[in-house]
Amino acid sequence: MEIRLERLTKRYGAAAAVEDLTLSLEDGKLLGLLGPSGCGKSTTLFMLAGLIEPTSGRIFFGGQDVTDLPPEKRGVGLVFQNYALYPHMTVQENITFPLINLKTPRKEAVKMAEAMAELVNIRELMKRKPGELSGGQQQRVAIARALVKKPKLLLLDEPLSNLDARLRIATREEIRRIQQEVGITTVFVTHDQEEAMSVSDRLALMDRGVLQQYGTPFETYRQPKNLFVAKFLGTTMNVFNAEIAQGSLRYGGAVLRGGLGLPDGPACVGIRPETFRPDPEGFEVTVLTAAVVGRDRSISFGLGGQRVRALLDSDNIVSPGETLRLSVRKGHIFLFDAVTQELAAQL
Ligand code: ADP
Repeated sequence: MEIRLERLTKRYGAAAAVEDLTLSLEDGKLLGLLGPSGCGKSTTLFMLAGLIEPTSGRIFFGGQDVTDLPPEKRGVGLVFQNYALYPHMTVQENITFPLINLKTPRKEAVKMAEAMAELVNIRELMKRKPGELSGGQQQRVAIARALVKKPKLLLLDEPLSNLDARLRIATREEIRRIQQEVGITTVFVTHDQEEAMSVSDRLALMDRGVLQQYGTPFETYRQPKNLFVAKFLGTTMNVFNAEIAQGSLRYGGAVLRGGLGLPDGPACVGIRPETFRPDPEGFEVTVLTAAVVGRDRSISFGLGGQRVRALLDSDNIVSPGETLRLSVRKGHIFLFDAVTQELAAQL
């Protein structure tokens, strides 16, 4: 089911938790709703669920205006951060609960619960209570319970935040598998950019209630609309105030890019660490620190009074104190407008 938000706004007093949010998501896609704490992700999710009433704007599900429909009439499945399972009920009772509530005959409810348990790989846990399950298993039960009513939209609120790092990765892959198997349109809230990038078909990145960019994870990473987006996604970007003089982008005595047809003046520059590469024609730096991080060699060097970080292939053996010539891969130097912080060019 396609979903569409039109100028959706939620205000608390004078403050807007969500401001003028417009976007549409195609049927069967997974939307990652991403941003720092307090940016309005949960408020958006709960407006979709019908648990928070918008101040203004409309919500459409498959072309139908559902803005004024109560939660139970929206056909959404919601999974909360803390799973919200009933502790005194078995896994099977937890999953059948929404169906029994809808007066589904018990036998049929059990059959449907079994199909869901099969889908999320918890068949052998049906007789246990939530307290006897790991966090990851509880998460699967919560997803099975959300899906058993065959909702048209699945909403996940920070579903992995209570899991440890390794389990988070396994579980996010599992959520993606289940979502694709069922083909259900899904909104996944997270503050973790890597998580959002890895599971989403579409990414909506918000800041202070305002949508900053909406697109595929790759577009958003590769063509960030502004400095906030560029800094939020990927490894920590190096940002500095360089200058353009006589057709060259210069910083701290280094020419970062030459042959530019751009006017002279100050330039706010962003460079991702992984886009530097050794280049005999490049600018010279003196290595301050170097460490092997798996496949990469993470180095830092001083430039223009600032410490800059680069990730090189770990085959590049360098030690602190040594000099190195580097350049930045074509198209990977981001220029931002110094005032608006909007992306101005990629050099
Ligand atoms: P996120 O989920 O991205 O962390 P929220 O959607 O929970 O952010 O909150 C967005 C903003 O709205 C925050 O500044 C938060 O303090 C504010 N907010 C959320 N709920 C309420 C409320 N019931 N009353 C007042 N302010 C709220």
